[in-house]
Amino acid sequence: MRGLPSAIVLAAALGVAVGPPRAARAAAAPVVGRLTWFGQSCFLLETAAGTRVLIDPIPKNLGYPLPAGLRADLVTVSHEHADHDNLAMVTGKPHVIHGLTADKKGWAHVDERFRDVSIRSVGVYHDDRRGAQRGLDTVFIFEVGGLRIAHLGDLGHTLDDDQLEAIGSVDVLLVPVGGSSTVDAYQATRVIDQLHPRLMVVPMHYKTDASASKELAPLDAFLERKANVRHVAGPTVVLTSVKARPATEIVVLNYR
Ligand SMILES: [Zn+2]
Ligand SMILES: [Zn+2]
Repeated sequence: MRGLPSAIVLAAALGVAVGPPRAARAAAAPVVGRLTWFGQSCFLLETAAGTRVLIDPIPKNLGYPLPAGLRADLVTVSHEHADHDNLAMVTGKPHVIHGLTADKKGWAHVDERFRDVSIRSVGVYHDDRRGAQRGLDTVFIFEVGGLRIAHLGDLGHTLDDDQLEAIGSVDVLLVPVGGSSTVDAYQATRVIDQLHPRLMVVPMHYKTDASASKELAPLDAFLERKANVRHVAGPTVVLTSVKARPATEIVVLNYR
């Protein structure tokens, strides 16, 4: 009993994944799972029941260190760009859900259940000209343990009423902020205001020390004038189903 909290603190400090999510169940709110950022828009969502969902897998040439032998049960791909669809990042034969149709000209309209996770998709665009410049993109909404996690892929515009209604209420929002090929810091902030996620915002798809991208902006502009920012030492944040928070938290993860 006594050793448990210090183990959690140590794990957080080192940013390493020690033990299953249930190690943190001593906390007040029930643990739903945890989210690990690998860089760009790539996250591993691990549910408390052990389901592993890899979102928008990245290739080696982006500059981020990729984990060896990564195992996933499910992989989702928001759109077929090289920095989002590297299925070779995982070993084994996971179930793969593509947001776009094979010809990339339409959306797949996903609404399915995989073990303890419900997955829905909403079609959006990679630019603010209805896809004329960069094509289509997909918002994936994962629901697990009553928590709704929305990943916006390479969203290139603010949302219209139909898109907002289709996405619905969001607890945890994973949003691109680096601009150039997606919404920039200012537009991302507008999208956050539109969706007003209840618990957490995690910025993604921005320039870091590791990323080779010359186009993406770093995180600074997005964090300007933001309140309630939490910098996590490692790549992982634990997701709990707390009833309410005074304000939405901006959680900055460290890919290292
Ligand atoms: Zn893209
Ligand atoms: Zn991208």
